[in-house]
Amino acid sequence: MPIAGIYGPNDFPAADPRPATPIGDGTRTGTHPRAMAMPSLEWSDEVERATAHLYERVKSVIPPVEWPFMAPYVKAINELKAARDAVILAHNYQTPDIFHCVADITGDSLQLAIEATKVKASTIVQCGVHFMAETSKILNPDKTVLIPDSRAGCSLAASLTARDVRLLRERFPGVPVVAYVNTSAEVKAEVDICCTSSNALQVVESLNAPTVIFLPDQYLARYVASKTNVKIIAWKGACEVHERFTGDELRAYREADPGVQIIAHPECPPDVLAEADFTGSTAHMIKWVREKHPRRLVMITECSMADNVRAELPDVEMVQPCNLCPHMKRITLSNILESLLYLREEVVVDPEIAEKARRSVERMINLKN
Ligand code: SF4
Repeated sequence: MPIAGIYGPNDFPAADPRPATPIGDGTRTGTHPRAMAMPSLEWSDEVERATAHLYERVKSVIPPVEWPFMAPYVKAINELKAARDAVILAHNYQTPDIFHCVADITGDSLQLAIEATKVKASTIVQCGVHFMAETSKILNPDKTVLIPDSRAGCSLAASLTARDVRLLRERFPGVPVVAYVNTSAEVKAEVDICCTSSNALQVVESLNAPTVIFLPDQYLARYVASKTNVKIIAWKGACEVHERFTGDELRAYREADPGVQIIAHPECPPDVLAEADFTGSTAHMIKWVREKHPRRLVMITECSMADNVRAELPDVEMVQPCNLCPHMKRITLSNILESLLYLREEVVVDPEIAEKARRSVERMINLKN
């Protein structure tokens, strides 16, 4: 059914001033007492030998001429992980050099949230955006969680504040609130349960309520509403990467090659999803490609994911619309190395907020298990 209502900041009395999104400002002051010296980043026979097996994984997407610039960073990062007792968690939208060559755990937001609860290492380096690093910290309060660039935000997380959630609760008393994990810790602390694009429908229906407030992605909300009889009240948030796709664009791909398969992320607008052969989260898209093994494929999502899938399945020909997430792209081999060397930028969440936010995230994870 269509969504029952959609709200945004203009539907409530203005806060003065509207609070800034709680992400970092990238300030890197001071020297950490445990900082280590920068290793050599020269290309050498030793570097070539140490990284040859990793280059095998990415040779279909990284030209040989580029590898000598990346390999010294890859070797240094992998050695430092051991020295720092650290693991690297990388989202599906990270570039192939990070995703295939230095990450220990990869996946979508749900997979990373679940894996974060099982991590034994004392330090987590989150290669993704700020809300993901916050989620890791919320689930691992005693560990050090680092993000290589704390300015890596998200248009969805920036669209909603904790105050917005409180105002919605006042307007719809008793209606349960679901928040996409693409939200700040402060928002997670105000809601009943979190969800990801992998489990949004399951989470909404688990509440056994006739109406649910679903925040902040209006397109994911519309997608969920189209699959359930639960009335959905939505928020006017959107992913700046997925909302740029159009149905016309997908029709043009099909006209160019009627045999092409098109799969899309549910953060896309409805006219895009109507043209797709399959709709699913990044994890579900990857599973679909592994199972169906299409000849030609268009992945309607962030561009790096197609590279990561192409590295794994080089015989699937990708037609690649390259919509990049500027926030995900703030994370690079260079700042991952600096993060491990200088133990920066540490993610800190107020313990009281973290405790409330943890309840919402764990409720989702326990539902999954
Ligand atoms: S791709 Fe979209 S939802 Fe994901 S981090 Fe970037 S802006 Fe946020």
